[in-house]
Amino acid sequence: MYSKPLIVHGCHCTFCQTQTGAAYAVNALIEEDRVELLSGAVHDHPVKTPSGAGQTISRCPECGVAVWSKYHALQKVGNHVLFIRAGTLDDPSLMPPDVHIYTSSKQAHVLLSDQSPQFDKYYDPVKTWSKESIARYAKILASKTGDTAD
Ligand SMILES: [Zn+2]
Repeated sequence: MYSKPLIVHGCHCTFCQTQTGAAYAVNALIEEDRVELLSGAVHDHPVKTPSGAGQTISRCPECGVAVWSKYHALQKVGNHVLFIRAGTLDDPSLMPPDVHIYTSSKQAHVLLSDQSPQFDKYYDPVKTWSKESIARYAKILASKTGDTAD
């Protein structure tokens, strides 16, 4: 990753629980062109999502671990923003969640002791993201307006 992520989600939705087999997923959102795969390749696995838009999970072909996803529901930028599974990084402690989302389906045994904002469902990025991240997101939107990925 060539820069810090746009934001890091702790996602407690039931879909993430099922997909990860864990209580919640920690996803670092970052522009695809700020990430470099240092070796090998990933295998893409399209899966259905509750929104109907779908998601592509990219897995290591050797061990099967999911390293990132693309969420096609995210307007036109969905194919250009990676949701990196922070737990797969060499040092996951560098990217704790900035926000916890879908806490309405948070497992009762998960006690959140950090001070990061928590949202029952999703949130308004304009009110939550840093000014720098909002500017970066706008830049992706502006550069990808010709896409028809949705
Ligand atoms: Zn989720």
